[in-house]
Amino acid sequence: MEKLELYIHIPFCVQKCRYCDFVSFANCEEQFASYVDALCREIESCREKYSDYVISSVYIGGGTPSILSADQIQKITDSLFRNFNIVNTKERHKGLFLQKKIRPTTEFSIECNPGIVSKADFSAYKKAGINRISFGLQSAIDEELRTLGRIHTYEDFVRSFEDAREAGFDNINVDIMQAIPGQTMISWQMTLGQVGTWHPEHISAYSLIIEDGTDFQKWLKKGKTISGEERDGIFLPDGSVKMLPSEEEERDIYYFTRDMLEKSGYKRYEISNFAVPGFACSHNIGYWKRENYLGLGLHASSMVANVRWKNTDDLSAYIQDPENVHEEEQKLTVKEQMEEFMFLGLRLTQGITRTDFVNTFHRDIDLVYGPVLDDLYDQSMIEFAEDAIRLTQKGIDVSNQVLAEFLIDSKQES
Ligand code: SF4
Repeated sequence: MEKLELYIHIPFCVQKCRYCDFVSFANCEEQFASYVDALCREIESCREKYSDYVISSVYIGGGTPSILSADQIQKITDSLFRNFNIVNTKERHKGLFLQKKIRPTTEFSIECNPGIVSKADFSAYKKAGINRISFGLQSAIDEELRTLGRIHTYEDFVRSFEDAREAGFDNINVDIMQAIPGQTMISWQMTLGQVGTWHPEHISAYSLIIEDGTDFQKWLKKGKTISGEERDGIFLPDGSVKMLPSEEEERDIYYFTRDMLEKSGYKRYEISNFAVPGFACSHNIGYWKRENYLGLGLHASSMVANVRWKNTDDLSAYIQDPENVHEEEQKLTVKEQMEEFMFLGLRLTQGITRTDFVNTFHRDIDLVYGPVLDDLYDQSMIEFAEDAIRLTQKGIDVSNQVLAEFLIDSKQES
């Protein structure tokens, strides 16, 4: 049976964070029940089409999934277990799982915002078959959380984390954010130190990107640091200005993070992701390895058998007719598949292998990328380790630039 990852999108939040460009809406409580019904209808409609796939991971993301009631989450998970092969065989999950006699071994994550999820909710998630929690903490410094427009404090996170542990979750991720306006190396060290005391199994440390259409983008201007250096800053409506870290500071923060987490027993398995051995996120790895994934819910993306599509971002249209909301499908060309294979696979610290390339595309990688590989190797951006090709630390430092080299121009294509 072929593998398929499932992503379920919950597009609601308590309030919009100032940096967020995801499809998520605040103040929509009256839509929750009809959205969950629509989602279950979409799930049901996939039953026959994907009956030959075994589900390798499930990820309920958003938005803020934990904004829904535990009953609504359970309604969604029950529908997933009824309609997909989440546990090894259909007979097992349909019969025994719903009688609560077995638990899925498949990684099954839900994103939670600290502060709006209770101990009872975590216990209900556990009973519903969820076995991994992902907390969006972002910072342990309350002032930084306020700058970001987050709804919670660090104390809220501590309570939620303890509640999740007490409910029996032994696989927890914490998202933290680098390059927050006003962040310094010292405040970052405090965030990392505080998170470390809770020993989560997984830590994602991404850098903030100022996206179009966000409050931060509207408030972005050139300003002066205390030392007089001109730099980008966020000019907040209360009149305060928070400068963005320089590239150099960001890089120092990145090195510090890597070194400190590695000393604490975490292994970096992707440019921005760290895990205790055995707890790397299989959902994310599947994405970087280009496994099939099916996105369900508003504006969710899918890629199955090298065909991509997205669901509509129109909430009313989705709720009305969730079975017919695909926007135009795009069949990926072989060239596009190769490009993705390289620039997604090279994000993993283990890199890609020549053998996987040949098995996937029936062409030797040197025939397609020989000159690019030689050039990057000469610049010490990549290294070869037996069959593997991977980024060096120098390559990771400028990964966007390096990965862009794998876009195939017409000369390479021939
Ligand atoms: S909680 Fe997440 S999805 Fe919701 S607004 Fe904030 S960043 Fe966006």
